[in-house]
Amino acid sequence: MPQKTIHEKLGELSQNLWWSWQPEVTSIFREIDPRRWSALAHNPVLLLSEYGPDKLEARAREEVLHSRINSAYRRWQEYMDSHSTWGDVHAGVLGHRPAAYFSAEFGLHESLRIYSGGLGVLAGDHLKSSSDLGIPLVGVGLFYHEGYFSQTIDEAGWQQEEYTDVDPDALPLQPVRSASGERIVVSVETRGGSIFAQVWKLDVGRVPLYLLDTNIEQNTEENRVLTARLYGGDQRTRIRQEIMLGIGGVRALAAVGINPRVIHMNEGHSAFAPLEIIRMRMKHDGRSFDDALRETASSGVFTTHTPVPAGHDRFDAGLIDEHVGPLAEELGIHHEGIMGLGRVDPQNPNESFCMTVLAFKTSRRANAVSNLHGVVSRRMWRSLWPWRSEEEIPIGHITNGVHTPTWLAAQMRVLYDRVLPQKWYLRTGEPDVWKGIDDLTPGELWETHQSLKNRLIVYARRRLSYQAQRHGQSAREIERLQGFLDPQSLTVGFARRFAPYKRADLVMRDVDVLEKLVNDAERPVQFIFAGKAHPADDHGKAILQRIVKMSQEERFLGKIVFLDDYDINLGRHLVQGVDVWLNNPRRPLEASGTSGQKVVLNGGLNLSILDGWWAEAFDGKNGFAIGSGQTHANQEIQDKRDGDDLIHVLQNEVIPLYYGRDQDDMPQEWIRHMKRSVRTLGWRFNADRQVMDYVRETYIPAAGGLSCEMVVMP
Ligand SMILES: *Cc1c(COP(=O)(O)O)cnc(C)c1O
Repeated sequence: MPQKTIHEKLGELSQNLWWSWQPEVTSIFREIDPRRWSALAHNPVLLLSEYGPDKLEARAREEVLHSRINSAYRRWQEYMDSHSTWGDVHAGVLGHRPAAYFSAEFGLHESLRIYSGGLGVLAGDHLKSSSDLGIPLVGVGLFYHEGYFSQTIDEAGWQQEEYTDVDPDALPLQPVRSASGERIVVSVETRGGSIFAQVWKLDVGRVPLYLLDTNIEQNTEENRVLTARLYGGDQRTRIRQEIMLGIGGVRALAAVGINPRVIHMNEGHSAFAPLEIIRMRMKHDGRSFDDALRETASSGVFTTHTPVPAGHDRFDAGLIDEHVGPLAEELGIHHEGIMGLGRVDPQNPNESFCMTVLAFKTSRRANAVSNLHGVVSRRMWRSLWPWRSEEEIPIGHITNGVHTPTWLAAQMRVLYDRVLPQKWYLRTGEPDVWKGIDDLTPGELWETHQSLKNRLIVYARRRLSYQAQRHGQSAREIERLQGFLDPQSLTVGFARRFAPYKRADLVMRDVDVLEKLVNDAERPVQFIFAGKAHPADDHGKAILQRIVKMSQEERFLGKIVFLDDYDINLGRHLVQGVDVWLNNPRRPLEASGTSGQKVVLNGGLNLSILDGWWAEAFDGKNGFAIGSGQTHANQEIQDKRDGDDLIHVLQNEVIPLYYGRDQDDMPQEWIRHMKRSVRTLGWRFNADRQVMDYVRETYIPAAGGLSCEMVVMP
């Protein structure tokens, strides 16, 4: 066989997202053309479309890239062919029938804007770790050609949303075809006609992700744009997207010949999926509805993600009948029968249909995403199992984690490579692997961190000047931005969705105190904020506006900054460069949170309310706790107490520790905290550990059909 050209090799690499968690491959793409690489939002498919074979060849010669490309390509092939993974040893019973992982969003890379926040990034990390561990798993989601919005901030500090249409050809999406070569199209019937979707395949290492897309000619105009936007539109759009994700998703898998052994629903959006599996069992295996439900539920795994009521989709009877009525008829259950599956009390006509309830009733294994969230969820859903005591409610927990190779800075990884075992990045879920962190010398850890912090600050200034240019600011004003943020100052980051319960402006409750902290001559603190509010969330937008306005006040100028359009790329810069990551949700509403876990990997310290993952992570010396985990029924009192505690911890713990320097200006005690944080938390709050837990505690039992919990009948 003739040798492949480097253009062909890079072309193949660009078509599998594996490249995105390989620092070496990423830097090859960047070095081909650094300017185009950033202009194209780090999209190698687009980059290569601008570089024909000859132009690429010339460029590779200039930059001496040939052997690096060849070796990256070889590593990728070895990875794809490897048969000695954790999954080969421990997940053998799943065999050739994979687990199917359903999610409304997947956060895999900044060039693929089909995610909005933590839920999506978690799903993306789950696929990547499943690939690394060799778990037989496929993903199912929707392809949103306009994705989630890009954020700009207007003169008044108010968020504006923009959507841009993405051409699937510009992404690593393969059209899925039947054996005879035709595009596979699936359909879902509603009372108002059928909705059709084509299917794309996206390769995430060894894991295929199937994405359904209604933007095809067979559809009416309304349905063509059904999957255009993530979390756009009204309740009717939402339920139509969800029947496509759940019912259409199962049909898409069947059309490509996949008969999943386990159905994992990441949040309730996909809870219609089991109904379609029940239908197939009744039709093909001649089961009764009750038997089919029992069998289907035994292979179902459901992860619930939030105690916030708005996070649980509810639909009225009319919407359910219009969109699920035809399927219910095939199941032989009448309207009240289907409604009962989505109600806590099936007989209560005043109860709307809740997707979370449907998910609980159609999956025998359910879990929350942290220990504390488990407690909260058992209380929240106990009425589904009225005959049980709270501790016996069958909702366990598997705490979320993050995919190390995705979130760890390349420079930090070089450092870890020296003290951790060989190929440690393929075994990050094992505690022993991280022991070597103790052998890092304080100086090299500190210097590496400082250099990442500098990189963040340079990056932040550049983003601020783009923002200023867009607002038509003068050259002098833009020049001034170059003095914003001081690499020597204690730098606190806060970036997440601007959902009101996350209280982005908590640190600003007493503006005068904040002014003193920020302008302290010896020991200053500076803040970098980022995050998007949901387009319909005016309360979240008002909080965002408050922060933007504060950042423009003379006393806070250059010391509190807001960076717009938070996404995975900005997130990566932030979690890799900050000294401290601030997280101050209203307890216990942050089910887990994951951004702070990304900070851990890079040596930053968490400063957080004892909520979500932090409630089980904090040990007194691996970061900082705000408050003591108490809650007050009165929200105003709670906010005041937490706000005061936050300032208190900053003043009395964080700032003194950070500025406590030895004769070489090294914060020795701070560095000890950094090391302790990485060593005690890195392996636990890690997506490999998370996926191994899912496999052991849910996928394998579900695949074996071992009975463990009674399914609740409607
Ligand atoms: C990790 C991540 C999140 C989740 O952040 P939380 O603090 O857990 O809410 C949201 N958005 C992006 C872009 C992320 O990378």
